[in-house]
Amino acid sequence: MEPEIFKPLINLFDSMDKTWDQVAAGYFFQCNGCEDNCCKSLFFHHTYIEKAYLLHGFNGLDKNRQTAILNRAQNYYNKTFNQPGAVKSHKINCPVNENDLCILYQFRPMICRLHGLPHELQRPGSDPVKSPGCNAGLFNDKPYIKFDRTPFYQKMSQIELLFRKTLNKTGRIKESIAQMLISQ
Ligand code: SF4
Repeated sequence: MEPEIFKPLINLFDSMDKTWDQVAAGYFFQCNGCEDNCCKSLFFHHTYIEKAYLLHGFNGLDKNRQTAILNRAQNYYNKTFNQPGAVKSHKINCPVNENDLCILYQFRPMICRLHGLPHELQRPGSDPVKSPGCNAGLFNDKPYIKFDRTPFYQKMSQIELLFRKTLNKTGRIKESIAQMLISQ
């Protein structure tokens, strides 16, 4: 049973997953893993509620698994953020990825759910910004199927605002999964 506070986020994630599945089916696309593995990308996440939900999932794991994940997270952090020069991706697996599976799949953040498919984003007063899908889908050879991320981002922003208000949280957040885990 998830705490009540996560209900709106879970509903949003459900609708993201359904839309993603429908669009992917339209392309006959199935993610079977690839060399460009998105779990090796350096993604940043920007909401406290997504962090809290991921950590809620993490806290439900047994202690040995938690320790193994935290060790990987520290290793990821040292290699990525504790080096001289600009922060860049070293194509290291996300600390919660084990044997090419996400241990916290149910609790993974928005960008992990939306990644892969060609999509668009509406900005007020300008044309939609379109972005390509991942290489594995060979989407350039197929007609675009509309996948607008805008309503998902808008809803996420509303949910985050309410979460911040409820828990009295302020300030910006920009963290990778490794940072979320070691800063809890
Ligand atoms: S949280 Fe899960 S889906 Fe997202 S990058 Fe990590 S292992 Fe991959």
